Amino acid sequence: MRYLLIVALGLVCSIAATAAPLVTPEARVNSTVESLGAAVPQGWQFVVMNEAAWRMNPYTHNSHTAYSLLDQHVTYIRETYVQSAQDDKLRSTIAHEMGHELCGCTDEATANHYQAVILKNNP
Ligand SMILES: [Zn+2]
Repeated sequence: MRYLLIVALGLVCSIAATAAPLVTPEARVNSTVESLGAAVPQGWQFVVMNEAAWRMNPYTHNSHTAYSLLDQHVTYIRETYVQSAQDDKLRSTIAHEMGHELCGCTDEATANHYQAVILKNNP
C-alpha cells in the first residue's frame, strides 16, 4: 500500500511538471521589463511574437531572439526564446533591445554599451 502511494505521488508530480507553465511568455517579458524599469522609454511596447509569425516575418532574419523597430517604438521578442531562455539571458536580450531604443540607433556596439549600463544599474 505504501509503495502504491509513493508511485501515485510520483505520477502526480510528473504530471504537474509537464503541465503548461503558470507564467505566460507575455507576463515573463513584462516582469523582466519591469525589473529594468528605469531604463524603459515611455510609450515603448514589448510584444511576444509566436513562432509561426516569427518565421514568416522578414525583419527577423538577423535575429533569433528579438528585434526592435525604432520608428514604431516596439520590440518584438520570439515566444519560443522567452519560453526557453534562462532569466539572465532574457534580461540581457531585453536590455540590449532597450539599448537600441535609448540610443535610437541600430549600431550593435552602441546597443551593447547601453545594455551593459542598464544591467549594471539594475542588478
Ligand atoms: Zn542589436
